Amino acid sequence: MYKIAVYPGSFDPVTEGHLDILKRTSKMFSKVIMAVVVNQSKDSLFTIEERLDILRKSIKLDNVEFDSFDGLLVDYVRQKKGDVIIRGLRATTDFEYEFQMAHTNKKLAGDIETMFIAADNRYTFVSSNTIKEVARLGGDIACLVPESALLALKKKFNK
Ligand code: ADP
Repeated sequence: MYKIAVYPGSFDPVTEGHLDILKRTSKMFSKVIMAVVVNQSKDSLFTIEERLDILRKSIKLDNVEFDSFDGLLVDYVRQKKGDVIIRGLRATTDFEYEFQMAHTNKKLAGDIETMFIAADNRYTFVSSNTIKEVARLGGDIACLVPESALLALKKKFNK
């Protein structure tokens, strides 16, 4: 039986879509580690510490931990004694990249499985990038992100 799941991502910032996946996953495993990826070429709005702070304030679940990691995902999963990588799928556009990553990780670590969770209907169109763009322009994104992210975005964009 699988016990420990790692849910990695940029979470720049976390959205209700990410949190929905987290809540559902937390019912399936003894422990879920939501881990912010440090080592990415992407330009980010929030620092790792800011993203972790937003995450910690967004939700509290007994079997969920927040963390960040640098380097190879499978090495981090092993270090945490995890068995499963969780990824959310919004649409077929996510699929190709996710499928490639899942197979690459399987090649690197055959004992670690990737599990895809379908995004909830309410959040299939939600992405951190769109959220940032709308927030920057002063649009209302209150029902799409947790309060902690909303406050952090307002502060960042002086809205
Ligand atoms: P990454 O840069 O690793 O894709 P993201 O923070 O964008 O990081 O997303 C982390 C994971 O959450 C990915 O598997 C992504 O497909 C998934 N995800 C992103 N947005 C949503 C959403 N609205 N609903 C469900 N899953 C999502």
